[in-house]
Amino acid sequence: MTGQTGDAERQAPLCMICENPRPEGIHICGHFLCAECEEEIVRTNVEDEKYPYFITRMKRVWQLKKDA
Ligand SMILES: [Zn+2]
Repeated sequence: MTGQTGDAERQAPLCMICENPRPEGIHICGHFLCAECEEEIVRTNVEDEKYPYFITRMKRVWQLKKDA
């Protein structure tokens, strides 16, 4: 069975980090960052191994936007 998404989920924007539709979050430079990822980024330490991943993701999105 596929596509078992509710209305709210279908309308939710896709997060630029986790690429999941989330109803809550913030928009940055025309891109959506879900509340979960935002919180995780805020909590993540610069020394954390996850940090470069977030930065890379965000940089890529911002660069795409800049090139367009
Ligand atoms: Zn996310």
